[in-house]
Amino acid sequence: MPEHSEKFEEMKAIRDEIIALKESPLYAYRIANNFFPVIGEGSHDAKIMLVGEAPGLNEAKTARPFCGRSGAFLDEMLASIGVPRAEVYITNLVKDRPPDNRDPEPKEIEIYAQFLDRQIDIIQPKVIATLGRISMGYIFKKFGLEANLKPISQIHGKTFIGEANFGSVVIIALYHPAVALYNGSNRKTLVDDFQVLKSFL
Ligand code: URA
Repeated sequence: MPEHSEKFEEMKAIRDEIIALKESPLYAYRIANNFFPVIGEGSHDAKIMLVGEAPGLNEAKTARPFCGRSGAFLDEMLASIGVPRAEVYITNLVKDRPPDNRDPEPKEIEIYAQFLDRQIDIIQPKVIATLGRISMGYIFKKFGLEANLKPISQIHGKTFIGEANFGSVVIIALYHPAVALYNGSNRKTLVDDFQVLKSFL
C-alpha cells in the first residue's frame, strides 16, 4: 500500500490535472461560472468509498462533495452507522458540474473516469458504495460485474465482489440521496441499505 505522503502526492497530482482539464466539455462552464471542480474529500485510508454522480450547484461553488441537502442526508446516514464523514472517502464519477444538473454524458464520463480509477487505486477501499444509477453502471462495468447489472430497484443494497489490482472489493449499489430525499419509500430503502456498510467497518 502506498505510504501516507505518497497517497497525498498522488491525490494532489489528480487535483492539478483536473483543475487544468481544458479538454473537458465542462471546463468552459466551470470557468464561466467561477465554479470549482470537486475532487473528493475524506480519508485516503478509508475502508468505505462513496461514489456519487457529479457535483451539483452547492458542490461546484464550494469544491466539496455532497455539501447541500443531499449531503446533509448523507451525513445523517453516516451518523446512523456511527461513522464520522472524515473516515470515509466521498467523491463523484464526474468531477465538474454538468449544466442544470443534467446527467453526465458518456463522453464526460469517459474523460473523468480515469481520475476515479486512480483514486480507487490510491485509497484501496474494502467497499465501494455507488450513489445512484450512473456511478453504479460505471463501477459494475469496471469491476467485471456487468452480468449483475440490473435496474437499481433490483440490486440496491446487495453486495457483489469485484476484483481490483490490490485485491477484492465489495461493491454495493445505493439509491442516490437526492432522489431518496423526495421519495418516502426510496428514503427508507436507502437508510436501511446503508446499514449494510456497518459490517465493513
Ligand atoms: N450529487 C452528486 O452526485 N454528487 C454530489 O457531490 C452532490 C450531489
